[in-house]
Amino acid sequence: VRIDLHTHSTASDGLLEPAELVRQAAAEGLDVVALTDHDTTRGLAAAAAALPPGLTLVPGAEISCGVFTAPGHWVSLHLLAYLFDPAEPEFARLRAGLRAGRDGRARAMVDALVADGHPVSWERVRALAGGVVGRPHVASALVEAGLVGSVAAAFSPDWIGTRGRYWVGKTEPEATEAIRLVRGAGGVTVFAHPFASSRGEIIGPAVIAAMAGAGLAGLEVDHPDHTPDARTTLRALAAEYGLLVTGSSDFHGSTKPQRLGAETTAPAGYQAILDAATGASPVTT
Ligand code: AMP
Ligand code: ZN
Ligand code: FE
Ligand code: FE
Repeated sequence: VRIDLHTHSTASDGLLEPAELVRQAAAEGLDVVALTDHDTTRGLAAAAAALPPGLTLVPGAEISCGVFTAPGHWVSLHLLAYLFDPAEPEFARLRAGLRAGRDGRARAMVDALVADGHPVSWERVRALAGGVVGRPHVASALVEAGLVGSVAAAFSPDWIGTRGRYWVGKTEPEATEAIRLVRGAGGVTVFAHPFASSRGEIIGPAVIAAMAGAGLAGLEVDHPDHTPDARTTLRALAAEYGLLVTGSSDFHGSTKPQRLGAETTAPAGYQAILDAATGASPVTT
């Protein structure tokens, strides 16, 4: 059984339409795929409507949140939320607020670029984003304008890399608060790519301990941005705190190299998510 529990569509910063994403998931031989767009459930209906026979769709979202790792030092984190009730009002309000914040912050990054004479525009960034706007859309506008050679190159200190020259942070809830809201909507939470090497921030075990205390269900151990050492450490932390383990591609399309199913979740991890969820059910044909 091949299970990939972290993917993105055009509802956020992925390149494939939700319907095309589920078609490709089936073509890649996946049995279970979760659609986890940033701060939105918008792509789920189209993915469900186009679901190929034999493929199970797990409705989800990747929620922006963060933590203070030192006084005044806020680090952004991502929380995968699965099988929550999308209509539950408190969590729905959080997602709506995060989306509004993303618009304002992307605009602020574009304003700073324009102020320095760079040929980018909010209209173009907005057009590149079919749904929820993210830094990859600003990055694509920088590539189009010939300012950088690739999306990855835009994530540098000179451009929109975290704390970089044109980077603007977004307003995010504490990770523990986000976990409580997902649980309140009957959902299950997995800390996405906790030790992602490309993100440039160190997350200590204390952060995972605090999240576990708030009801975190699992850790995304097998992720393309995790080194073998990171995976070993995370597996041990999962065992220590009684957390389930997942592995997923974090597929976005060609802006990132990994293919659908590049990393997968063992059936036991998936079953633990199903057992803990009360807000929604997986979709099958
Ligand atoms: P945002 O949530 O808008 O700040 O943007 C984060 C998105 O940018 C996530 O999809 C990340 O995977 C992506 N991202 C972060 N760092 C990089 C990088 N170095 N190269 C390409 N994409 C990145
Ligand atoms: Zn993304
Ligand atoms: Fe992420
Ligand atoms: Fe992601």
